[in-house]
Amino acid sequence: MKTSVCKLLLILVLFSSHAFAQNNKTAKGFQAGAATSNITPKIGYSINGNMQDTKIRNIHDDIHARALVLDDGQTKLGFVVLDLCMVSRETLDKAKKRASEFTGIPVQNMMMSATHTHSAGTACGVFQSDPEPAYLDFLVERTADALIRAYENRAPAEIAWGVGKEETEVFNRRWYMKPGTPMPNPFGGQDQVKMNPGVENPNMLKPAGPIDPEVPSIYLKTLDGKPIAVLANYSLHYVGGTGNGEISADYYGAFAERIGDLIVNEKTKNDPPFVGIMSNGTSGDINNVNWPGKKTQSLAPYEKLRQVADKVAQASYSAIKDAPEQKNIILAAKQEEIRLGVRKPNAQEIKRAEAIVKKAAGPTMQSMEEIYARETLLMKDYPDQVDLILQVFKIGDLAITAIPAEVFVEIGLELKAKSPFKPTFNIELANGYNGYLPTAKHHKLGGYETWRARSSYLEETAADKILAVLLRLLNDHKANK
Ligand SMILES: [Zn+2]
Repeated sequence: MKTSVCKLLLILVLFSSHAFAQNNKTAKGFQAGAATSNITPKIGYSINGNMQDTKIRNIHDDIHARALVLDDGQTKLGFVVLDLCMVSRETLDKAKKRASEFTGIPVQNMMMSATHTHSAGTACGVFQSDPEPAYLDFLVERTADALIRAYENRAPAEIAWGVGKEETEVFNRRWYMKPGTPMPNPFGGQDQVKMNPGVENPNMLKPAGPIDPEVPSIYLKTLDGKPIAVLANYSLHYVGGTGNGEISADYYGAFAERIGDLIVNEKTKNDPPFVGIMSNGTSGDINNVNWPGKKTQSLAPYEKLRQVADKVAQASYSAIKDAPEQKNIILAAKQEEIRLGVRKPNAQEIKRAEAIVKKAAGPTMQSMEEIYARETLLMKDYPDQVDLILQVFKIGDLAITAIPAEVFVEIGLELKAKSPFKPTFNIELANGYNGYLPTAKHHKLGGYETWRARSSYLEETAADKILAVLLRLLNDHKANK
């Protein structure tokens, strides 16, 4: 009898000390925090996203850095999605460094990306738009601050996810055309596919690639059910239809508002407020125009992007509203740099470009030939090789990959199919900007996205090399290596 009591006591002591140790280790359990920071540029600054520069005349809607920090008690991950067309590695490296100094989160655990709105302030030099140095300094601070604020806002949280679908708003924009259709490129040659062939063009044959209709969505809420954030992803270049010279977050901003309307009500309003985030998936060859469809009446500015935002938000909402809570989440981050070759112009191409630029009336280059001749001369001084950051984040059984380019949809579909994590999705234009990332097959077909410029210069085998690294990192995560 005495021995059994002793044994029982011993078991109790062992059990409670074990339980205490467990509790202590994950004292706060899983936590999440979200925040936004305004990144609206000054009126008069440059807007990029076009071949010719435009200046900001008005702000239609403020643009933001939207941040989410996840914390499993051991590891913290930070994500910031910026309402920008593209943003350079230099700017993001500085923002990460600042955010790391305040939060202690290692920079390789941070992902910062651009949405690809074409109505934002210029944050890196493309075509005839160049950034204001003062705007870049402002961006560094505001981007870092979004992440720091999300970190400070952390609270015990539940996480759930689901994959929605919206297949009516994404279209492959590269088309095979009937034999004999002229498809000139600005280098004096002919392509085999045409980007944006024109609605009701009788010479269209078939799209040169697939689409990805998925809307993966991660949902964070407090332990008493108040929505903290949704991080969603969709493979759509952008929508556009914004007012001339106006700043707007495009459908990404409208999505953030709409998903909030669907999820948050008076009773579940959180303080700090809910943050909706739409990241860009793999949309290098995908846009919002139904090329084989009928010409429709043009809509008022901002109407189309609101329609798209509503549909995508509904798809995201249906995926997460009843999604089960994911428990015992373990977070992990892997980052690797890859060195890739640059497609530089040869002596003959430089000579041709020099002649075209010399003949141009200027100072603004007007024709595609002139614009690409100017780009050829700028590419002449590019380094022979560039280093790119590739990342893979593990959030329990979900994985996120990140690539600093406008990634062709085939690459995203391959990642999703081959990844050992279900779901997996990619965030493009992340951690820098290295132009379009077509597959080797698409380089052979030519077309706008392959035309050498600061918007397309990586070696033709870049996609294969990037895929190999990302799949290896995904498998390493799976094996807990
Ligand atoms: Zn683009």
